Amino acid sequence: MPELPEVESIRLGLKKVLVGQNVLEVNVNEGKIVSSNSNIRVSNDKKITEFKSNIKNKSIISVERRAKNIIIKLNDLSVILIHLKMTGQLVYEDSKKNKIIGGHPIINSYTDNLPNKHTHIIFELDNGSLYYNDTRKFGYVLYYKSVEKAIEANHFKKIGPEPLEKDFTLKDFREGLLSKNKNLKQVLLEQEIVVGIGNIYADEICFASGLLPSKICNTLTSGEIESLYNNIKSILRLAIKHGGSSISDYLLADGSRGNYARLHAVYGRAGKPCKVCGNVLEKSKMAGRTTVFCPFCQK
Ligand SMILES: [Zn+2]
Repeated sequence: MPELPEVESIRLGLKKVLVGQNVLEVNVNEGKIVSSNSNIRVSNDKKITEFKSNIKNKSIISVERRAKNIIIKLNDLSVILIHLKMTGQLVYEDSKKNKIIGGHPIINSYTDNLPNKHTHIIFELDNGSLYYNDTRKFGYVLYYKSVEKAIEANHFKKIGPEPLEKDFTLKDFREGLLSKNKNLKQVLLEQEIVVGIGNIYADEICFASGLLPSKICNTLTSGEIESLYNNIKSILRLAIKHGGSSISDYLLADGSRGNYARLHAVYGRAGKPCKVCGNVLEKSKMAGRTTVFCPFCQK
């Protein structure tokens, strides 16, 4: 699943080509993608009809992001909310067949000869087509009359502030951490006190802060919390600058791969020497995920 830097990089790429275009036609080949975001999803004819008629003949005014959701905003301020989940992909192809791809490529043929059997939704635009492909169909593409309606539908219910926005404050972050009798890795992955951090960046942020991912949050000192807070912001900013990490083959919206992966200090480096002290990095399972750390640099 992409993390915040990957989704942000995809958003930035799509924003360049989509804004200003009119939606001329909407085709839905797999109704469950547009029908709901629950775990057990069924195609719903009413939802498909509404989805198509609500979007057709509107124009795209912005491409935004909230946590790992991409939000395409239309000229009446209604929104198309997209979550790529495991294998979702957005491909924009212009009339000259130039492609802009954001998401998971799986196999080479995945993006060839569009639309293909993995294409579930097609938006025909003034200058090209936007395809939603998804082999495993865990992702969703939903229509809401407004961002507020998407919030009411519990899309962002328990999620915390955006780490790179002003409402992510040190004070709230400190209070959030000190209220948790759980380990740091788990709390960072939960998205409740800050959004957008997944397995890769949780490990990188803990290493940069000199803190073991197993550290219990309500035992953290003020200095440790401040260090975490600053590292969350600086590491995510740097990762966005480098276009994300491209782990599990994420492609950015311009078709290139992110190159932040080569800057990873710990993620994917278990058994290799620590870049700071030279000792061997260790791994364990935490919050159900493989976690890599330096037993010397992190306390
Ligand atoms: Zn070390």
